[in-house]
Amino acid sequence: MKKLALHWQILLGMALGVVVGLIMTKFDGGREIIQDWVKPFGNIFINALKLIAVPLILASLIKGVSDLKDIAKLSKMGGRTIGTYVVTTVIAVSIGLLVVNVVQPGKSITEATRTELVESYKGDAEKKISAAEKQREAGPLQALEDLVPSNIFDAASDNGNMLQVIFFAIFFGLGLILIPEEKAKPAKQFFDSFNEVILKLIDLIMLAAPYGVFALLAALVVESPSADLFSALGWYAFCVLLGLAMMIVVYTIIVLVFTGKTPKFFFNGIGPAQLLAFSTSSSAATLPVTMERVEEHLGVEEEVTSFVLPIGATINMDGTSLYQAVAAVFIAQAFGMDLSLGVQLGIIVTATLASIGSAAVPGAGMVMLVIVLAQAGIPEAGLALIFAVDRPLDMCRTVVNVTGDAAVSMLVAKSVDKLGEPHVRNWDDNYKKR
Ligand code: ASP
Repeated sequence: MKKLALHWQILLGMALGVVVGLIMTKFDGGREIIQDWVKPFGNIFINALKLIAVPLILASLIKGVSDLKDIAKLSKMGGRTIGTYVVTTVIAVSIGLLVVNVVQPGKSITEATRTELVESYKGDAEKKISAAEKQREAGPLQALEDLVPSNIFDAASDNGNMLQVIFFAIFFGLGLILIPEEKAKPAKQFFDSFNEVILKLIDLIMLAAPYGVFALLAALVVESPSADLFSALGWYAFCVLLGLAMMIVVYTIIVLVFTGKTPKFFFNGIGPAQLLAFSTSSSAATLPVTMERVEEHLGVEEEVTSFVLPIGATINMDGTSLYQAVAAVFIAQAFGMDLSLGVQLGIIVTATLASIGSAAVPGAGMVMLVIVLAQAGIPEAGLALIFAVDRPLDMCRTVVNVTGDAAVSMLVAKSVDKLGEPHVRNWDDNYKKR
């Protein structure tokens, strides 16, 4: 029997997860069965992906930087990467603002619905607001200070900071470039081989992907809130989804124009990572698969993927910034506020920065939204308005976050002449050779 392509397997797992979740909500105790006996497998799958993310960044980035051989190349690629990321984020926020101003979803919210939503989700909103408190108290140079870890194990821990791991890896790679070749060789070989092992582990984890996403989606369906509050937020959700869809179109256009690669090629390559982003709502958990797909299926050389993608997963969140812009203006509209052009231009700046500061985990975009609201003078309590639909929108914005990283890595690769043909690792051949 011909084996189904990976993205079809994952889609099948997702669809079955939704169906089984829906069926189980109809039975007494069905929810609990899913939560106790199915959800843990989803969590195991996410944990396995996250487990692999830090060693992968370390090994591939150290290898990537040391392969660059000179610092000028590194800073050239760094500049292009950050520059392109900022440009795509500003485009995303602008699209979000355009859509929300044209559709005006907040105007359709009645006083009664507003009160009901605020009452229902007050507690949840307060949690997010207090999580944002720490970020808000930070001084202007806090982000820079946070970049340098005082302990690499702390940085690599569960509550750690991916940017700090990236910093360490680049710093270490730099050291490798600067020492004589014969001294650097054993360390390089070690990380090279380490990297290969990690890539193999990703392959193994991906064998479980269809089952993992099945468990994740079944759990999500049994845990989702009732549909009536959902419908009150239909226009808001529509705006976010429309904006996200437009952003995907923007990526396909820039990929086509700058690299000549067709949308079919692009989506075939990145598809499985997009499906995982949707199922896990986490760019960080998806990162190992994004890296593998971009390198092997989109033809971006490892030197570029290992540098551009971990940074992108951490700071480039176009979907998140677009959502923050739509949500901020929606909340303002729902509270009867008219935002001036100046305030909306301010949102472009704060949503861009807030998305950079958002962690690549589920629901993080909403924490940073608090800061966007505060800057624009919009009531923070309004966060409760959008809570009911946040998770499905988080799933969709994470897809855009990951797609954006992949698109930018192709552009950067093209600009430094590192965009080749897809080259799927053929492990069997390697093993035969041995
Ligand atoms: N879940 C998103 C991500 O990981 C971040 C967010 O918007 O909440 O990319």
